Amino acid sequence: MSYEILQQTIPPSFSQGQESLQRVIDKIKGAVALSFSYQAEDVVALHFLSHCRIKSLEVFTLDTGKLFDECLALHQQTEEFFKISIKRYLPKADDVKGLEERLGDWGMRESLENRHLCCHIRKVEPLSRALSGKAAWVTGLRAAQSVTRSELKSVEYDEKFNLFKINPLAFWSEDELFSHIKKYNLPLNPLYAQGFKSIGCRPCTRAVREDEDIRAGRWWWENPEHKECGLHIKE
Ligand code: SF4
Repeated sequence: MSYEILQQTIPPSFSQGQESLQRVIDKIKGAVALSFSYQAEDVVALHFLSHCRIKSLEVFTLDTGKLFDECLALHQQTEEFFKISIKRYLPKADDVKGLEERLGDWGMRESLENRHLCCHIRKVEPLSRALSGKAAWVTGLRAAQSVTRSELKSVEYDEKFNLFKINPLAFWSEDELFSHIKKYNLPLNPLYAQGFKSIGCRPCTRAVREDEDIRAGRWWWENPEHKECGLHIKE
């Protein structure tokens, strides 16, 4: 592992941030992947990468089978805007069958254990396939999103998936994010206009009030410190 890469900070401005991101990517030996989950942050992270020179980049999404129709529409719109193909990773059919028999449509809300099982089958296992063989994983994570992300760094080493994790928006504010989307007329999920501030699966995401926390609409029946799906948990 290169400790020089881990010391890089990506500032919250597009021009300076893009130069810093390029310096990080130039040090990565191997394929780079961006996880695209239909959030404004992912669109901006993709905008960053579209300005970088990268030998091998895969943009992928985790198609959980529980996505909003608005996300499916944004998938196509984003592909057309950036002239790319976003690869879909699906959960294993047998696992989904067993999960649905056990939980029904709403069982993920009945306990943390059920919810983690659903997230593991629909998200974490497909993510491990998506990241297999990759040297770096670019995300749209921001430190200001939640208590579980407050110590986020621009570059981290993910022991779970054994690769560098690059977070170009780590120090961006919500205002900077949406100003950037507007300035460059980037595709935006229409769910934001309906009061959603964080986008996830249909059964586990709701719109929030203006005075509510950004992630208040995700797994709203759980305590804030539990609000991760397992994709970004350090082990
Ligand atoms: S967010 Fe909800 S529906 Fe989606 S994988 Fe997790 S528990 Fe299942």
